[in-house]
Amino acid sequence: MAPLGAVTACHCTQCRKITGHHSAAVPVAWQALTVTGDITWFESSEAARRGFCGRCGSYLIWEEHDGLAYLSAGAIDGDTGMRMDGHIFYADKGDYYHVGEMLPCFAAGRSGPEVAP
Ligand SMILES: [Zn+2]
Repeated sequence: MAPLGAVTACHCTQCRKITGHHSAAVPVAWQALTVTGDITWFESSEAARRGFCGRCGSYLIWEEHDGLAYLSAGAIDGDTGMRMDGHIFYADKGDYYHVGEMLPCFAAGRSGPEVAP
């Protein structure tokens, strides 16, 4: 896989509702992308569409018809080497969290050991 760029978190209302929290996406040129399998597209606005796995429903791609596919970072298998470098539409975020808030991090479920963030 070619190296990918930085991941951006989007806290807009549409991303919050589709993901259940906020999206985290990395841009890649469509020309550099090979898609295998079925993608189910949802026209989320006149300017953009969202692609979901036709088999499991995972949110995979946001496309703004600008030649780029914005891949959902969490849907990429294995180690990615990517880093998140910013947040957009932060004014639209849910009121139940703040970026940078120090919260306990558990390796698995809440009954298990805490790990460093
Ligand atoms: Zn968004």
